Amino acid sequence: MTPARHDALEHVLRRAADGGTFDAWSDRGRTARWCTNPIRLLGSSRVIHSGTGEIQGTFSSAELPDGVLLKACGQRRATVCPPCSAIYKGDAWQLVVAGLRGGKGVPESVAGHPAVFLTLTAPSFGTVHSTRELGGTARPCRPGGPETCVHGRPAACESVHEAQDPHLGEPLCEDCFDYPGAVLWNATVPELWRRTTIGIWRSLALQIGFSRTALARKG
Ligand SMILES: [Zn+2]
Ligand SMILES: [Zn+2]
Ligand SMILES: [Zn+2]
Repeated sequence: MTPARHDALEHVLRRAADGGTFDAWSDRGRTARWCTNPIRLLGSSRVIHSGTGEIQGTFSSAELPDGVLLKACGQRRATVCPPCSAIYKGDAWQLVVAGLRGGKGVPESVAGHPAVFLTLTAPSFGTVHSTRELGGTARPCRPGGPETCVHGRPAACESVHEAQDPHLGEPLCEDCFDYPGAVLWNATVPELWRRTTIGIWRSLALQIGFSRTALARKG
């Protein structure tokens, strides 16, 4: 056994032997859906009544096992995180099935409706390492010349990445990548989606000569 594995095993046994810590850790693990690579959040928060200024609740990651709040990574790729990818697949299946035959709050009459499979793609925030395929043959990640970006890093990547390559999805240059844009876009995507669906209903109603409310009533 390697020294690192030996240390990890010792750590696991120590935790398992301490009932209180083990249960608290096990609860956190379950909440993070046993993600294999959870995001570890540090920090504290307070809930303050806006009228009286009274502190109604406090939270600190320091009180949790290992002093961190575990959050599932939410990865879709099974090679990166099998539990998160299984949950994603299950959720996606349930959503599609409910949209086609009803259930989960959707009426069964939906089965008689025309269906459209529409794929909406998020904007790019910069070049990232990826896998490419052409006619079943794996192609280099991002072929190109010897050019560099403004930070002097290569603007191309000739590697053919394996599916398990940890660099997949990482920017070619982290200074070029628009991280603030990606964070803001993800934070505001629910509102963007809300407005998009309103727009879709409006143009559908316009196309078939119904009012927006008459169309909504038809479900
Ligand atoms: Zn995960
Ligand atoms: Zn690459
Ligand atoms: Zn750069």
